[in-house]
Amino acid sequence: MTTQPPHPFDDRLYALRTRWEQYLADGQLEQFIEFAVAVDSLAEHFARLRLPGLSRLCEGLEKAVLAHIGNADSHPLPAQARVALQRQIDALFGSIATSQPRVPVRRAEEKASAQEHAWHRPRSVWLVTAAGREDVADGLERQLNYFGFRVQRMDWDSESAVEPGQAPLAVLFIPADGAAAGATELARITACRRACPASQLFYLGVASVIDPIVALMRAGIDVAIPNDEQPAMVVNRLLDLIQTEEQERYRVLVVEDSRVAATLICRTLTEHGIDSHAIADPSQLLEVLQSYRPDLILMDMHMPRFNGVEATRVLRQMSAYQTLPIVYLSGESNIGMQVEALRLGGDQFLIKPFNPVLLAAVVKTKIARFRDMQRSTRIDGLTGLLNHSAAKARLKAMTESAAPGERFSVAMIDIDHFKAINDTYGHPVGDQVIRGLAWLLKARLREGDLIGRYGGEEFIVALPGTDAVLAQTVLDRIRGDFAALPHTHPGGALYATFSAGVAAWPAIDSAAALTETADRALLDAKRLGRNRVEIAHS
Ligand code: GH3
Ligand code: MG
Ligand code: MG
Ligand code: MG
Repeated sequence: MTTQPPHPFDDRLYALRTRWEQYLADGQLEQFIEFAVAVDSLAEHFARLRLPGLSRLCEGLEKAVLAHIGNADSHPLPAQARVALQRQIDALFGSIATSQPRVPVRRAEEKASAQEHAWHRPRSVWLVTAAGREDVADGLERQLNYFGFRVQRMDWDSESAVEPGQAPLAVLFIPADGAAAGATELARITACRRACPASQLFYLGVASVIDPIVALMRAGIDVAIPNDEQPAMVVNRLLDLIQTEEQERYRVLVVEDSRVAATLICRTLTEHGIDSHAIADPSQLLEVLQSYRPDLILMDMHMPRFNGVEATRVLRQMSAYQTLPIVYLSGESNIGMQVEALRLGGDQFLIKPFNPVLLAAVVKTKIARFRDMQRSTRIDGLTGLLNHSAAKARLKAMTESAAPGERFSVAMIDIDHFKAINDTYGHPVGDQVIRGLAWLLKARLREGDLIGRYGGEEFIVALPGTDAVLAQTVLDRIRGDFAALPHTHPGGALYATFSAGVAAWPAIDSAAALTETADRALLDAKRLGRNRVEIAHS
């Protein structure tokens, strides 16, 4: 018997299915609410993984589920409603089974073996091209090939049948020149959306008029790219899909003196994949904030000794907590009191007993916005990679959380004779070369690898589960491809090369020593003639 690797959504799917089965067996409203929470959690998960087709199916189910929540007397639901929901659940599970899992698997040994394959797994892209637009498709195909995508060409009349696990990462629709999408085109897109719910669908060349774009979105297009945008933008968008930054789990601190309420809240948050920590006594607040570093506080209004508003006022006076989202939970329905509480520093008010779906939605949107705000301080604007300090922090975290026996490699990469490129072709062309290397690294390395812009034309990468020799092999392949990558400029195309130095954990046993040693190996590579990858001598 062969063991299938678990589907990356397994935990959430399992929760959803068991909740539904429990509800079918007993028919209680509470069970139905738990099922609703599981559906919402899955929808949110798909949205975060940028799987628009699956999240849309899941949202459809969620909408149908929420319509049945309001009224306790309607449970157990009549057979007809249960059958309708069952059909939606089956459709969702069917689509998940045919989608291509792109999520890193969690368990260590699975991770290792999945990563062996990850280096060799080309991501496929379909190009659906109208007659007369072959030149556009040719150009795109060439670019996509440079960045390691496997391109499959088809015309608008072909079927989009997909084998399980074979769905493309993306489908690019290239319509006939100047024509708005008609009924036939929209039907073709809808069919593709249905066959590939987890793929990103791009439509190239729309006019900037809202009606046709809305029609495309309704048919299932995720990104409509205007006529005047460069094809390079398509490549960039595709690469962004692959290198979605690995998210740290959301953390919520619950300040609540009632054990029962705290337990309920934490359970709801856990259902949504959110970490939580509860304290009953607000005098521990400062200490716990330091050690737990939450993204949001759920604050009870009424507690012994001092209340939630007073605790919030104290936090707002400290610069570290001025923008930390604080949501009040209270049985208080007096509007005047709520307004006063918000005026004194809270972000939102939720009334107890809380609706778990609403609670989770509020918590997630507030945290997402908070993290977005912080994100701009960690990402390099030119390349979209981690910036210097964020890359260093991430490398340090890798060394601190490394399990005994774990291996990983760090490489410093520097473009050769870059000053000459700037001097000859100008700074903007130099910028494009830097971006080209950033894109190539994003395209060729795996999800979960660290890629940062360390300085001007210098990059750092860290490759988990990879020893120095494998890292050298992988980077040397990328080196060869970079040397062959044309960078266009007004007068034609130029070619650039890079040199790299590799150092490996745990032979080198601190983050600082790793970068220093890799840097020394990089200097060796420069001295030995450039356009090469050297491993550090111990
Ligand atoms: P080597 O092969 O030894 O690495 O030579 P090099 O010319 O690449 O090295 P050097 O460090 O002398 O030059 C790096 C140049 O990169 C100098 C700087 O002006 C340029 N630079 C730094 N940041 C940027 C940037 O963001 N954009 C552009 N276009 N140039 C940059
Ligand atoms: Mg209380
Ligand atoms: Mg250089
Ligand atoms: Mg340099």
